[in-house]
Amino acid sequence: MKALVFKGPGQKELADCPKPVITQPTDAIVKMVKSTICGTDLHILKGDVPAVTPGRILGHEGIGIVEEIGSAVSNFKKGEKVLISCVTSCGKCDNCKKQLYAHCTDGGWILGHLIDGTQAEYVRIPHADNSLYHLKNDVDEEGAVMLSDILPTGFEIGVLNGKVNPGDTVAIIGAGPVGFAALLTAQFFAPAKIIMVDLDQQRLELSRGFGATDLVNSSDGNVIENIKKIAGPEGVDVAIEAVGIPATFDICQKILKPGAHLANVGVHGKPVELHIEELWIRNVTITTGLVCTSTTPMLLKNVESKRLKPEKLVSHRFDFADMMQAYEVFGNAAREKAMKVIINFN
Ligand SMILES: [Zn+2]
Ligand SMILES: [Zn+2]
Repeated sequence: MKALVFKGPGQKELADCPKPVITQPTDAIVKMVKSTICGTDLHILKGDVPAVTPGRILGHEGIGIVEEIGSAVSNFKKGEKVLISCVTSCGKCDNCKKQLYAHCTDGGWILGHLIDGTQAEYVRIPHADNSLYHLKNDVDEEGAVMLSDILPTGFEIGVLNGKVNPGDTVAIIGAGPVGFAALLTAQFFAPAKIIMVDLDQQRLELSRGFGATDLVNSSDGNVIENIKKIAGPEGVDVAIEAVGIPATFDICQKILKPGAHLANVGVHGKPVELHIEELWIRNVTITTGLVCTSTTPMLLKNVESKRLKPEKLVSHRFDFADMMQAYEVFGNAAREKAMKVIINFN
């Protein structure tokens, strides 16, 4: 089969690889139908995630058809359409029992990281009963792909950790796919204002159509002031950090009103300066996290009913044979006006 293989920092190849086989009775083999590329895949390609070794097939998102199941798989049958969760979980360990699936002692985020992933014609899914979801035939397939990772990430780590409430003023720093996922799902809780903050005016304008009430372009140097002009002098109720660099974390910690929540979603590679000397007196809460995908079934219901339409995030579509070009476009998102790219398998 063909697969997108990581060959070391800066190198990747669409290569011929052996088709995966069942190695544990709890495994399933899934024939991919649609996949996508994540910002995390770009981090891996830069060499930021040293746990990913050369030869690894990338990808942790997508939908497919069950091709084969191990003898202990009871929830799924050959031929069923499934959503693949970016997080693999056994459902039995201490962390799984607390719904901390990201920290499953025999799973977590392993796909396209510690084991071969979904940017391939076939993928092996360990603990299939807990790591796959049934997909009805009438569910928008592109929307479903957004449920593998970005929707639960924006919702759980941004919106739920940030404790968004009706009437709140929410600032989302970073108008990328995960920032947009937070923007879409924050609206479950009816905040009064959602301020989108980014350097890219095009993405900001786009966010209006997804429910942003106010836009702040952070390129002019007065970002804190401009957010407070909208939120009020005390700041916002919830700041969602969806970039993962010191500058954007810093914006978040400077716009918190007393009692506010700062929900960090961004993947950070460098330390940040925490202004505890300003924050200690403000009764604020700072949260971090890796998505647990415990809300995927709830989000899937909202996609099924079309209350949530994450397929609007798809900007480009490619055949799997053109995977290298898909990376080129996604890797130059601003220039290419790319948000999420869909990869179609035949
Ligand atoms: Zn991802
Ligand atoms: Zn577990």
